Amino acid sequence: MRRRRPLSGRLLAAVALAASLTACGQSPDMLHKTQLMSMGTLVDISIWTKDGALAQRAINAVTEEFSRDGRRWHAWKPGELTKINGAIAAGKPAALDAQTRDLIAEAQATAVASGELFNPAIGRLIGLWGFHTDDRPPGPPPGRARIEALLKLAPTMADLRLDGDRLRSTNPNVQLDLGGIAKGYAVNLAVERIRKLGVQNAIVDAGGDLRAIGRHGDRPWRIGIRNPKGPGVIASLTTRGDESVFTSGDYERYFTYQGKRYHHIIDPRTGYPSVGTASVTVIDRDGAKADAAATALMIAGPDGWRRTAKAMGITTVMLVTESGTVYMTPSMAGRIEFEAKRPAKVIVEAP
Ligand code: ADP
Ligand code: MG
Repeated sequence: MRRRRPLSGRLLAAVALAASLTACGQSPDMLHKTQLMSMGTLVDISIWTKDGALAQRAINAVTEEFSRDGRRWHAWKPGELTKINGAIAAGKPAALDAQTRDLIAEAQATAVASGELFNPAIGRLIGLWGFHTDDRPPGPPPGRARIEALLKLAPTMADLRLDGDRLRSTNPNVQLDLGGIAKGYAVNLAVERIRKLGVQNAIVDAGGDLRAIGRHGDRPWRIGIRNPKGPGVIASLTTRGDESVFTSGDYERYFTYQGKRYHHIIDPRTGYPSVGTASVTVIDRDGAKADAAATALMIAGPDGWRRTAKAMGITTVMLVTESGTVYMTPSMAGRIEFEAKRPAKVIVEAP
């Protein structure tokens, strides 16, 4: 998991949109908002209800969920995941709580569906690139020999065996880094909890990656998608019913060395940051699936994204290439509203 500057552009856009919605004449006492820091990002909670006490209970539940999940699934700060990684490295079994087990099982299935482009077993490689720190890594990129040495160890999720609440790895070189899926999983857990409390209309937004349920009064929630190629938002859309919208991008965490950008989404085939794609936005009901798919499709890139989306069962995708071309599935094209300055090249293609 990574640190994001507290008010990233994407987030500012989301905040600005939310603010303008409140200002547009809806009764403001229905909208209950709060923010907290978790998983290295600012989490925005919006609850739409006339019951102020319910809103407070919901906000407390989401806060509790994120502070717990941020601690237990952190990729490098001591917690449950680092304990699990320690056990794997030592060739010992690790005990899992029910949700960590379920998250790892979901990550395993997702890795298979993505053709191993989504591979959260490559924690050592992500650490080698310097992304296991709160600060922006200074570079330079690691040497090719060290990258190749880690690739040879071939850690994959298939090396893990789940047996009840126990986890074993047949490969001690597996190091779990759930930064590409844990936020989506946590958003799912948070939304489940507030639903159980009786909340029907809400957004849980972790730095622009969100799950929305219900509506904002008499209209749907409207959200912005950050422009990966410049300031502000590239487009907006309204959510329908219960949906997660997740974006991965090369602008989230990166360092620049000798004029070249090295970002935090690593192609497990090459050991280097993925190339060709600036951002991918995925809409799916399931936040964990949308989160992992956005990461995998960044790696699949402008040529491979259709095949990978199909294999992962994802139908609503927007991919912005490094040169600014926008690819979309028909179901995304039906939803996206571009800003006044529409991208020069927009290509709609079925997965
Ligand atoms: P963000 O959380 O910034 O929106 P992502 O969801 O794409 O972006 O997650 C990026 C994180 O996923 C990285 O910081 C790292 O922890 C992890 N990661 C990097 N490469 C991979 C990969 N190939 N498979 C799975 N996880 C990855
Ligand atoms: Mg992701």
